[in-house]
Amino acid sequence: MPIDDCLKKSESLWFSDCGLVIRANTTLFRVSGEILASKSPIFRDMLHMPQPSSSQCETFEGCPVVSLADDPNDTEVFLRAIFDSEFFEPYPSETDFETIHGVLKLSNKYLVDYLRRRALTHLSCRYPTTLEGWMDLTPTSWRIEPDLLIPVINLAREVSALWILPAVFYSLCISTPHHFRSLARGVSFQGGTSRLSPSDLEIFLEGSHAQRECASAMLQFLWYPEHLQGCTSWSRCYSARCAERKYREGLQYQLGYRPIEIWGDAEWRQLPASICAACLERMRGLHQQAMEGFWDDLPAKYHLPCWDDLEQMKDAALAHF
Ligand SMILES: [Zn+2]
Repeated sequence: MPIDDCLKKSESLWFSDCGLVIRANTTLFRVSGEILASKSPIFRDMLHMPQPSSSQCETFEGCPVVSLADDPNDTEVFLRAIFDSEFFEPYPSETDFETIHGVLKLSNKYLVDYLRRRALTHLSCRYPTTLEGWMDLTPTSWRIEPDLLIPVINLAREVSALWILPAVFYSLCISTPHHFRSLARGVSFQGGTSRLSPSDLEIFLEGSHAQRECASAMLQFLWYPEHLQGCTSWSRCYSARCAERKYREGLQYQLGYRPIEIWGDAEWRQLPASICAACLERMRGLHQQAMEGFWDDLPAKYHLPCWDDLEQMKDAALAHF
């Protein structure tokens, strides 16, 4: 039975020498069923199932039509990744989140393992599992806008890429002061609205509060302990440290959302020269300890497994069997 009206052919995926039409909503793609079956066991089973008699089978321009329940944008990038070898190259080649989203969702659903691994590697490059990785990010292959963080979280949940979530939640907390409305109403994505699930919203609100509470601990080296080992001029050093504390605490309202970034190279350079070298060295050690403690606890703040478990999940997901 032919299908008609309101349908549009994909411009980039219409190979007239191929014999299968894939339909996603009102978009049609004409591709090779045999190539698709060779990449995906799900499509292999679907295409090899006994077909109903030809009079009942949907056709378009003489080709059988397989209808998918997937988003047309996701379907398009997924099929392009399979049929156009230059479209979605491995990390670190440049790509974008919409492409990663479609390829990852559908390669996960239709079990196209090499594309799933490729998309996960792109997705993960922005969200390291170590503090060193966060401080010195490896080259990234795609750009992130604050409004994409909610779709990133939803995608990670859907494909069980939990290892990126501590860093994504951290980033969402950083952007929150300007995006309360996004949390409440959701953000526009792929022609619809993307919202945090009720459970993720609860996890985020609780976790981001805990994250903000940690800003003070990151600066504690400024006032505690009062006496630092090896100090050569206690009263001068301590009064300079306390003056700096007073100044920095005034900034905490703006910077408290980002405990890791509240103190860095620029702040070390701005410290008064009156603080002795021994104090400086001890202060650097204490600050590093506080940062490491914060990073170690980050997954727990957002109700996620510990870093070791998350890294094992990542290794298993990216391993080539
Ligand atoms: Zn000193």
